[in-house]
Amino acid sequence: MSVADFQPVIGLEVHAQLLTRSKIFCGCSTEFGAPPNANTCQVCLGMPGVLPVLNEKVVEFAVRVGRALECRINPVSIWARKNYFYPDLPKGYQISQYDQPLCQHGGLEIDTDDGPKRIRILRIHLEEDAGKNVHDAGGGESLVDLNRSGVPLIEIVSEPDIRSSTEASEYLKALRDVLVYLGVNDGNLEEGSFRCDANVSVMPKGSTKYGQRVELKNINSFRFVQKAIDYEIERQVRRLEEGGKIAQETRLFDAVKGETRSMRSKEEAHDYRYFPEPDLPPLRIPPGYVERIERELPELPRAKLQRFVTSYSLPAYDAKILVGDRALADLFEKVEAVYGGPAKKLANWFTGELLRLLKEDSAQLAALRFTPEQFAALLKSVDGGELSNNAAKDVFAEMFRTGRAPMDIAREKGLIQVQDAGAVEAAVDAVLAANPDEVEKYRSGKKQVLGFLVGQVMKAMKGKGNPALVNAALKAKLGD
Ligand SMILES: [Zn+2]
Repeated sequence: MSVADFQPVIGLEVHAQLLTRSKIFCGCSTEFGAPPNANTCQVCLGMPGVLPVLNEKVVEFAVRVGRALECRINPVSIWARKNYFYPDLPKGYQISQYDQPLCQHGGLEIDTDDGPKRIRILRIHLEEDAGKNVHDAGGGESLVDLNRSGVPLIEIVSEPDIRSSTEASEYLKALRDVLVYLGVNDGNLEEGSFRCDANVSVMPKGSTKYGQRVELKNINSFRFVQKAIDYEIERQVRRLEEGGKIAQETRLFDAVKGETRSMRSKEEAHDYRYFPEPDLPPLRIPPGYVERIERELPELPRAKLQRFVTSYSLPAYDAKILVGDRALADLFEKVEAVYGGPAKKLANWFTGELLRLLKEDSAQLAALRFTPEQFAALLKSVDGGELSNNAAKDVFAEMFRTGRAPMDIAREKGLIQVQDAGAVEAAVDAVLAANPDEVEKYRSGKKQVLGFLVGQVMKAMKGKGNPALVNAALKAKLGD
């Protein structure tokens, strides 16, 4: 027996921070990077006698996600207390949702080697984040920062439909793209605003009975998701082959060592003593609320990708890069609408020059200096022969930095190609007169001499001759 004889079964739980300005149950700011405990009040510090007040924006964002993931939105959902003790949780419980969550029974389609596959989503519920313990803060003591306490989260729980680490990573990427498109999450794994735990088990191939699952925590990059799951699958298979049993436990992924290690035996739900939150009434969704949010949903990444491939006839590869960033896709469509030339040519400028410059300058798409009209005008001047492709790249870089009009830049840099047929003809005449031997060779059949003559004309015109005009004029004069 080996790994190939086993079927991995994986379910993912994603915690995503909702991009509201204030916390879920108080008015404190959610801003990242404030001094420790600056963004706190009696409510999120867990003082006795205070009452939570629900932030409506949190509900709106969660319903947006719920409908984008094709979930049923429950008209009534219940807040619950999840009780546990930890220094970063001053109340001694976290307000969450338990047996009646806001959203249930949805799904998300991903691409696999065998074609599209729908990963079912069991539930999405709302909850508050805990604070953060800061260990070894200087004097050897541990400190608590409660800025994150009460920051709104949604937990998105998939069914155990994922069958490999590659599928897990595809699902996570697709999910993150949806949340970012919806404008409810910044998709930042490294800063912890999009966190993933994985439930992993293995069973002999052909079996229908799932093995004992192990929970993996602390997975904070797409690369680690695959590594952590692959490591865990191998570990479990090895253990079973040795005749051992898989313990129900929570394991931590160590990114440095590339392995998982036991953190604690996994709690059962009953260990948390969930009970309904007495300080918050049930969350009731008014009639028409879900429909209104649904109407405002943007086009989602998968649909946009399909449309870019079909309506712009773009290769899937190009379309994927463009759609990978909603702002990039939007800009593409704006430029395309005024350009009118081949979309593939425009896509090449986006995936090549534009992305390169954005990366070099670590500039933001939202703060571009040039307009879509200027971008389109630049490409039109290449199509019209006024600028060579290389000159246009120069102009584009300058336009990117300054936002000045492309033809102003081209004129200033002397990059505009001579379109005047008379000027081209005069240069051709001079070159032919100066090179009688080459002209003779050409006429006696050595056609490769043409390249040399084109070069001479371009040189005489200081590189500004329009190559198509130069070629045509030369051939005409040589009697071709
Ligand atoms: Zn507060």
